[in-house]
Amino acid sequence: MPNKRDYYEILGVSKNATDAEIKKAYRQAALKYHPDKNPGDKQSEEKFKEAAEAYDVLSNKDKRARYDQFGHEGLSGAGYSGFGNMDDIFSHFGDIFSSFGFGGFSGFGSSGQESRGRRVNRGTNLRVKVKLNLQEIAKGAEKKIKVVKYIECDSCHGTGAQKGTSLKTCTTCNGRGNVTKVTNTFLGQMQTTTVCPSCGGEGKIIAEKCNVCYGNGIVKGDDIITINIPAGVSEGMQLSLTGKGNAAARGGVPGDLIIAIEEIPHTLLKRDGTNLLYEHYISFPEASLGTYIEVPTVDAKARIKIEPGTQSGKILRLKGKGLPDINGYGNGDILVNINVWTPQNLSKEEKEIIEKLAASNNFKPNPTGSDRSFFERMREYFH
Ligand SMILES: [Zn+2]
Ligand SMILES: [Zn+2]
Repeated sequence: MPNKRDYYEILGVSKNATDAEIKKAYRQAALKYHPDKNPGDKQSEEKFKEAAEAYDVLSNKDKRARYDQFGHEGLSGAGYSGFGNMDDIFSHFGDIFSSFGFGGFSGFGSSGQESRGRRVNRGTNLRVKVKLNLQEIAKGAEKKIKVVKYIECDSCHGTGAQKGTSLKTCTTCNGRGNVTKVTNTFLGQMQTTTVCPSCGGEGKIIAEKCNVCYGNGIVKGDDIITINIPAGVSEGMQLSLTGKGNAAARGGVPGDLIIAIEEIPHTLLKRDGTNLLYEHYISFPEASLGTYIEVPTVDAKARIKIEPGTQSGKILRLKGKGLPDINGYGNGDILVNINVWTPQNLSKEEKEIIEKLAASNNFKPNPTGSDRSFFERMREYFH
């Protein structure tokens, strides 16, 4: 950011200027650099902005104190960043300008804004939640849902005019939707454009209101909507169906229907991105002698072999059995975490057997042996 000028200097007042002096100085600066007096002059616009910011700070007791003590840094440190554009200034100082005698400035300065053209009503967006189970997430789903919303009035086809009557072009604005007023201020002639008060900006007038929708053009109703949900979606994702939200008053543009995805958790498989995690316990004899276990998958069960001598913490991978990536980058895996159940509450007899086995060298832990370390397993998991 370029170095900012001193606020007192900008307004040409002394450090101990009174509020009245500051206001007076700002009024002069605002008059001098006002964009109406200097159309298209970027330098004046900058000066106008600069003066507005200086006044904004110096007319506020807290901001002025902070500025006096810490300078510009003190203000930016407190999150103050001045004004972004001319509209900000006019909306911020609306009251001040009218006290200066400037008259209404609303909407001044920006081009192509809505009040320049006819207003188009827009329906509001609707949000619905759709719950999906793991199978639906894995395969994608077609859901039919009933949505209660505003729909176009059948009787008037959304125009709001009683059957058999027609809409009339607004005579106040000749269908433009806005009116232009010229006022004389001491800045010179001011042109202001505002929404037409007769038609509310729509450009048309309803002679006789539809007795079904009372002239709104919309009524409460419902709609059955079919949604195709792609495979691989996840909790919190939103799909937007353009134009499927609430209908707009009197033939405007309907809003959107936002579908928020909710996952119904699977009882056994825990989702981690495209991978599915499954926790399985085997007994100490199974770990020692080897066995087969059944692992749930999205659509069926898989039988997998547990090798003799399997350690607790081993992760087995069912490649490609996880969920599809929503962008089509293939499927994740099912990762089976094998835990060996250490027996508790042994009987006297069991104790004696295990004590006998304990003497064997084969029962001594040997983590540097055939199986991989925790870190290696983690590295594989987070590959
Ligand atoms: Zn109607
Ligand atoms: Zn009008």
